[in-house]
Amino acid sequence: MERETMCIQAGYSPKNGESRMIPIIQSTTFKYDTSEDMGKLFDLEASGYFYTRLQNPTNDMVAAKLAALEGGTAGMLTSSGQAANFFSVFNIATCGDHIVSASTIYGGTFNLFNVTMRKMGIEFTFVDPDCSDEELEKAFRPNTKAVFGETIANPALVVFDIERFAKAAHAHGVPLIVDNTFATPINCRPIEWGADIVTHSTTKYLDGHDATVGGAIIDGGKFDWMAHADKFPGLTTPDESYHGITYAEKFGLGGAFITKCTAQLMRDFGSIQAPMNAFLLNLGIESLAVRMPRHCENAQKVAEYLSSNDKVAWVTYPGLPGDKYYERAQKYMPNGTCGVISFGLKGGRAAAEAFMKNLKVAMIATHVADAHTCILHPANSTHRQLTDEELIASGVGPDLIRLSVGIENVNDIIADIEQALT
Ligand SMILES: *Cc1c(COP(=O)(O)O)cnc(C)c1O
Repeated sequence: MERETMCIQAGYSPKNGESRMIPIIQSTTFKYDTSEDMGKLFDLEASGYFYTRLQNPTNDMVAAKLAALEGGTAGMLTSSGQAANFFSVFNIATCGDHIVSASTIYGGTFNLFNVTMRKMGIEFTFVDPDCSDEELEKAFRPNTKAVFGETIANPALVVFDIERFAKAAHAHGVPLIVDNTFATPINCRPIEWGADIVTHSTTKYLDGHDATVGGAIIDGGKFDWMAHADKFPGLTTPDESYHGITYAEKFGLGGAFITKCTAQLMRDFGSIQAPMNAFLLNLGIESLAVRMPRHCENAQKVAEYLSSNDKVAWVTYPGLPGDKYYERAQKYMPNGTCGVISFGLKGGRAAAEAFMKNLKVAMIATHVADAHTCILHPANSTHRQLTDEELIASGVGPDLIRLSVGIENVNDIIADIEQALT
């Protein structure tokens, strides 16, 4: 199937007389005829459902659709993108381990890694995604367990060189985890470029309608845990909490990562997506292949308009020829990148504030990447505790405006920007 078809049909095929739409299994628990039947589930000897804190059929149908779209072998939904990124790392790294991550990642992920996961004893080295080969090589340690990056960084709009980072990770016997939230599998499939695990904040384009917070993890199914057994004992040695099964042996390349993540992390942390939200997420994914090209087409026109306006000081959009990441975006995302643009006005911080007060179509919201055009001035909202010097150091200058172009008629979006600039 092509991706357009998968968006509609993958993950669920109703049998004779069954509901055409993915059913919402709004149930905490599942009934069995005998204790032996249920016992097999607890031993991971049979597959099935027993408690929605770990797994739910509605979620699994949507996760299977996402796994198909990303070209992976297995997937799971989580309650948020934060939970997805936490699980993707914590499933293979523990106290005393180390991760190499691109420095230009979403602020929430940076905080999760740099503050919260450090408290759990996991060390992180953040590297400039455009660093030299020597610098990248130096970042690895004997206890490094994974490399992490974002296909298109939120909000820096840096395009990640997936192939290069995959090669470096594999040379050190560890997987590459890529957060593919901004590109979506419509514009880029990181697994095809060597990534091993893909994560999403489904809150963004996948849902696409500002309705549900959620996340997803997809396993590419190619990373050979057994070939690096000493690095990943959680996957390659017996799990005593499941009668001594070894995930990599029992579930193979394609299933070990997600089975362990479900059986251990979802069991213990319970960060599951509500089945109702998974149903809404699925509605969003059904139109993803139609929405993404429209986001990109609109953003391209808005970016071109902004670059030609003399009140605008600078524009960052990887679809603009001349952008620092234009060539790399052409390689990884020839059909378009995303709908998010950042820019600054010649009048700096004060002009940004005045401009945003006058917008009528673009809504002020911390959100990005959904059907509604929305706009944020980080210096005045998410980053307002920082001084101008600190803002510049973090790559989000006091004048930076983040515009997430929606799927309205682009003429209305541009007219709104024009009247607000005037
Ligand atoms: C929003 C976002 C997240 C966090 O997702 P939530 O669903 O808000 O928890 C992670 N990564 C990226 C790239 C994001 O844009």
